[in-house]
Amino acid sequence: MSVTQQQVLDTLAKVKSPRGVALSNANVLSAVTVNDGKVFFSINVDATEARAWESVRAAAEAAVRAIPGVSTAMVALTAERKPGAAPAGSGGGVKPAAAHRPPHGGASPMARQAELPGVAAIIAVASGKGGVGKSTTALNLALGLRDLGLKVGLLDADIYGPSVPRLTGLRDKPELNSERKMIPLKRFGLAIMSIGFLVEEETAMIWRGPMVMSAVTQMLRDVDWGKLDVLVVDMPPGTGDAQLTLAQNVPLKGAVIISTPQDLSLIDARRGLAMFQKVNVPVLGIVENMSYFQCPNCGTRSDIFGHGGARHEAERLGVPFLGEIPLHMAIRSTSDAGNPVVESEPDGPHAAIYRAIAGRVRDQLKGVISAA
Ligand code: ADP
Repeated sequence: MSVTQQQVLDTLAKVKSPRGVALSNANVLSAVTVNDGKVFFSINVDATEARAWESVRAAAEAAVRAIPGVSTAMVALTAERKPGAAPAGSGGGVKPAAAHRPPHGGASPMARQAELPGVAAIIAVASGKGGVGKSTTALNLALGLRDLGLKVGLLDADIYGPSVPRLTGLRDKPELNSERKMIPLKRFGLAIMSIGFLVEEETAMIWRGPMVMSAVTQMLRDVDWGKLDVLVVDMPPGTGDAQLTLAQNVPLKGAVIISTPQDLSLIDARRGLAMFQKVNVPVLGIVENMSYFQCPNCGTRSDIFGHGGARHEAERLGVPFLGEIPLHMAIRSTSDAGNPVVESEPDGPHAAIYRAIAGRVRDQLKGVISAA
């Protein structure tokens, strides 16, 4: 039986807003997306009223989940400050703070959400901009950590362009366990979850900052991750408000920054670094991706981008340099074929590079993960 948008709206008519008005008439709902039993929408309210709305959000989510045929309901509470009402120094205008959580200005680790039970360390893989190979590196790093004997999960939080379905070849929809938590998909020995398993890419593209936060939180909390040593989070690219809020609200043990050697990208990497420092998340180090070109035929190395910039930058900024990954056809073709290079060519030189990077990451997590 397929669920319709009207069914969802009829259900929301029975949920009351804090002022007693039916939620469907309260003029706060975004468009309701219904896709193969998965329902997504947001409730958009003024930041000053957000606290009162959190229970409405929870009630709406529970009511929609109870509709026969609904497998997942994701309801985001998004709070906007009226122009002029924003705190000094915040730039004013629309802020992404999901207002039932502390705004990111505090930057105290204490304000962060509770850790995930069963998951020893959550680490972010981030980049200052898109297209630098963040997702490719996140997956191969996760596989490298797996090869070191760790139990590893991968959460694709790149809500603007989830690429894990492409990189892994996974297309299935996650099933629910008896507690109605989503069961992550399994591939290459990793527990994998992506917003791309739940919505079409076009839907994800229109999501705004606060919805990103809410969706990622749910992918963390409403997923049965089981016992993991490390959960690698593939962050949305960039250093905007959505990323900053994420960096603060996800209980991260550290972050790995991916950069290419070009100057511009290094500047972006610096922004990424500053973002994590601002919210007191330790930067585990910088990886230089597409560091040099390695000819697939003769193996000759060409430093087409003037390689070494990231190592230099890392030294200058006093953060560890984790390694350099060449620009190589095999890395691209295996990624795009859904069979990442650490998996498909485990004895090759690229897998060795990713494993060495994974080793340095693991060393930094000593004391946090017992297997390390
Ligand atoms: P991002 O997540 O930063 O947007 P992706 O991981 O999706 O970037 O990578 C962008 C493209 O670059 C993909 O086609 C990927 O296969 C390719 N790519 C990433 N790293 C390398 C590399 N070291 N060598 C060759 N191609 C790469």
